[in-house]
This record gives sequence, C-alpha cells and structure tokens, in this order.
Amino acid sequence: MSFMISCKENSRLVTRALDKPLSLREKFLTRIHMVLCKVCRLYAQQIGWVDQFFKKRFHTDTLGDNAKEKMIKSLEKEMSP
Ligand SMILES: [Zn+2]
Repeated sequence: MSFMISCKENSRLVTRALDKPLSLREKFLTRIHMVLCKVCRLYAQQIGWVDQFFKKRFHTDTLGDNAKEKMIKSLEKEMSP
C-alpha cells in the first residue's frame, strides 16, 4: 500500500477532521501528505482558520454544513490557479 494519498483524499479527511476526530491511520496519512504537499498544508490552515473564526465570532459551532461547505468551496476557488 502507498502512504501517499491524493490531494483530494487529503482535503476530504482534513475537512472531516473539523467535525470529528480522524482515526490514527487517517491522521498518519494526512500528516505525511502535508509534510510533502505545501498546497494542502495551506488549505488546512485556511479551513482551520475559517472554523475558528466562526467559533470566536458567533460563539457557536452550530454553523450549518451548508455554510461551511460554501466557505470551503470559495476558498478552493481562490486557491486554484
Ligand atoms: Zn496535497
């Protein structure tokens, strides 16, 4: 098996990690990926920031999946060349 997951797989895991903890294996895989991939590191930082921003700003983490997805989509758009 390969330790290197795709960027798509990585971003899926990172996004899910905002809602519930990843398994040890998933954590391991995302960590390796982010050591090697600058784009995904940036991506994780950005969505991490978005999540924190909403928690701080509205003192809630009941931000709907829809809203979160919209934010992530727009970030993805910004980051693609
Ligand atoms: Zn990547």
